[in-house]
Amino acid sequence: MTDKPDVKLAIVGSGFSGLGLAVRLKQAGMHDFVILERADDLGGTWRDNSYPGCRCDVPSHLYSFSFAMNPGWSETYSTQPEIWAYLRKVAARNDVERHIRYGHDVKSGHWDDEAQLWRLKTAEGELSAQIVVLGVGALADPKLPQLPGLETFEGEVFHSANWNHDYDLTGKRVAVVGTGASAIQFVPEIAPKVDKLVLFQRTAAWILPHTNRRITKAEKWLYRHVPGAQRLSRAGVYASRELVVFGLAFWPNVMRAGEALARKHLARQVPDRELRRKLTPHFRLGCKRIMLSNDYYPSLTRPNVDVVASGITEVRGNTVVGADGTAHEVDAIIFGTGFHVTDPPYAEGVHGRDGRSLADVFGGTPRAYLGTALANFPNAFTLLGPNTGLGHTSVVYMIEGQINYVMRCLREMDRRRWRTVEVRPSVERAYNAELQRKLPGTVWNSGGCASWYLDANGVNSTIWPRFTWQFRLRTRKFRPDEYVVTPEPR
Ligand code: NAP
Repeated sequence: MTDKPDVKLAIVGSGFSGLGLAVRLKQAGMHDFVILERADDLGGTWRDNSYPGCRCDVPSHLYSFSFAMNPGWSETYSTQPEIWAYLRKVAARNDVERHIRYGHDVKSGHWDDEAQLWRLKTAEGELSAQIVVLGVGALADPKLPQLPGLETFEGEVFHSANWNHDYDLTGKRVAVVGTGASAIQFVPEIAPKVDKLVLFQRTAAWILPHTNRRITKAEKWLYRHVPGAQRLSRAGVYASRELVVFGLAFWPNVMRAGEALARKHLARQVPDRELRRKLTPHFRLGCKRIMLSNDYYPSLTRPNVDVVASGITEVRGNTVVGADGTAHEVDAIIFGTGFHVTDPPYAEGVHGRDGRSLADVFGGTPRAYLGTALANFPNAFTLLGPNTGLGHTSVVYMIEGQINYVMRCLREMDRRRWRTVEVRPSVERAYNAELQRKLPGTVWNSGGCASWYLDANGVNSTIWPRFTWQFRLRTRKFRPDEYVVTPEPR
């Protein structure tokens, strides 16, 4: 017996993915949807990551929706507050806010095969939906290392994605763990304030000079008044970034040219030989995310900053102990240790047609068809899902490809009066086998590093291994023969 769901479509998350889909639904005249958001404001990753210095490392003309361009960006690479404000503006302009249910942390979702709908349990009660779209993001759940003694540490502890703005770091002794894209942005901001900063670096990262600059009034005028000017600028950014794929995906040795540039940057900014040695990476550029900064290295040369070139092994009282045996007494520990990307907590709670959870089905290696459709999970889609991540350009471009695909599927469902769609397991398998055939020669798999792109099974289940326009081509068509469908009851 099929039941009537409370809503046609439930979107989980109000970041770039969820908002983008919501805007497109509104534009298509589809209003029967809700966005379930666990926090009390929208914006996802760009709401949560409010640490000092947070800025996007992809130019904003490209790191924004093609259907909601912003001629007013103030810098070429925008700061977190400006991106967050952009998302709020997009939501307001498209009348999306009234669809958002704040505080609705989705605890679980079960596919009810008899009623042919999703039953969702949220922090605020239950809800049924015909279709569920997970727009939960890849960088949503902070990852903290399991450190013996951390629970008895009496000082302040927080993660970069949960920055405690009420804690004044002035004059404090601070340990920072991690040297990823987040840490290299907040370390230069806090280093001048603190009494002492001990930076625990497990792996040195490649860092290139940043080319951020203010966008002039004349440029903004051009973008506002000359049709196509901003699109042209966007296309230029897109094309130049796409060139990097030749090195990343096909000829990793080409990346040596970038390494030479990064070495020069390091030599120019760090005169001390021993510190330079610590900061020199030993893997191919691109294997981990390429970072951009002009103030990270100089901040490490300050007399109050110590770089400990090792991980952290334990906390003893108020002392942090490095893997190199050194001990450092501190008032606060800040973790810039990344996110649960390939083992997201939400996957435990989403149960498909046979009752198994997404986490069980994945078995440590997330898979989906086109990073979007999940076999065994009828009427469920995921945005920015497995193998849609990028190392060189804007993920918003990938999200839009997935939104296009979901929109096509929804139109087809309406037109042909289908109640359910479910991608065939053979289609999902063949697609993922194809991806895994393409990945071994890429820098992400062969560049000699351990990165979060590789999951617990050592499989690269995060990165799209080719040009991004190829992904857009693949998501342009919805092919019904790739799905098992059931009709709406009469
Ligand atoms: P991340 O890239 O995962 O970096 C985590 C850092 O913590 C790494 O240096 C890692 O060392 C270290 N770490 C992890 N566990 C540790 C442990 N137990 N002991 C010692 N060190 C440990 O995380 P993130 O910096 O937050 O960045 C995540 C992603 O967010 C980036 O890759 C990027 O995609 C995105 N991001 C983007 C921007 C932007 O500008 N658009 C800014 C920030 C973040 P190892 O390298 O040895 O693993």
